[in-house]
Amino acid sequence: MPDAYLKIDCGAVVRNWRRLCEIHAPGAVAAVMKADGYGLGAAPIARALLAAGCRHFFVAQASEGEALRAALGAGPMIAVLAGGAGEGLTPVLNSLGDLRAHRGPAILHIDTGMSRLGLDAAELATLVAQPALLDGIEILYLMTHLAVADEPAHPLNAVQIARFEAACARLPAAPRSVANSSGIFLGPRFASDLARPGCALYGINPTPGRPNPMEPVLRMAARILQIREIPAGQSVGYGASWTAPRASRIATVSLGYADGFHRALGNKATGQVRGRTVPMAGRVSMDLLTFDVTDAPEARPGDQIELIHPGQDADALAAMAGTIGYEMLTALGRRFQREYLAA
Ligand SMILES: *Cc1c(COP(=O)(O)O)cnc(C)c1O
Repeated sequence: MPDAYLKIDCGAVVRNWRRLCEIHAPGAVAAVMKADGYGLGAAPIARALLAAGCRHFFVAQASEGEALRAALGAGPMIAVLAGGAGEGLTPVLNSLGDLRAHRGPAILHIDTGMSRLGLDAAELATLVAQPALLDGIEILYLMTHLAVADEPAHPLNAVQIARFEAACARLPAAPRSVANSSGIFLGPRFASDLARPGCALYGINPTPGRPNPMEPVLRMAARILQIREIPAGQSVGYGASWTAPRASRIATVSLGYADGFHRALGNKATGQVRGRTVPMAGRVSMDLLTFDVTDAPEARPGDQIELIHPGQDADALAAMAGTIGYEMLTALGRRFQREYLAA
């Protein structure tokens, strides 16, 4: 019996990708798979997406690109967002230095407001003045990245798209790539030849504050190791931060912050066991959680307790911990038994 498991529904990822394709049509939709597919496992998910027709993948680093190429074989584009790409991978060129060092197909990144990677205004002006810098480079896409796509009313969205359109008008014509997950929901002005969603594929809500249009992908559960009875007034766990208000049953569960269950969730998160929702009692330890199962009298040692469940998705856990769903997923540890449901 595994101590803790993750169930990753590749079919749900594929349905999320198809949903994004419908919204973004006629533009194509890539899959962003950096950080091992946002912590869920890039290879099995990318294979399912490839089988469904996805032909463009993005990773952060060359080593991730090599691993993905090994998983997918020749054919689909695998673009590396930062730090250059190796054989068979498509680099994203982020500076004039990158441009000078490269020959062949590439994606050219224009910085329109992130102030992070990509050609800034001065570099763009140099490139426009010296078009020979592009000799030998086949621009597959002109790309930019939105800073506040998850806030549709933020004025920077319109500023960025206007800057990008102006930049593209000064460069040789090429297909364009703009929207991340949230950008796909910003409307037709933000549509392009290739959207680059990540989080929405994995079930994170790309429209914060509105109902999540994506299907859940992930279930997380862990095993109850022991259940003990404690009298009213007795405390549970480090810091004695929870004290039993009545005679209570405490279930100790095989999961902790070492698995990516954020320590800030202590005394806040809930679990679900045999259909009942039960509250945490006490802090998150490295390898253990404790729940008050007094009101779930059917709970037994050996039962699985669901930690990502219909009433508590990764976004909700992240919000409780003061972070975002992206960090929740990419923090998932190595001790889970991972199960992939085929598409
Ligand atoms: C991470 C990333 C994406 C995907 O962003 P999501 O918000 O997860 O959809 C797209 N483009 C670039 C350049 C990125 O770094």
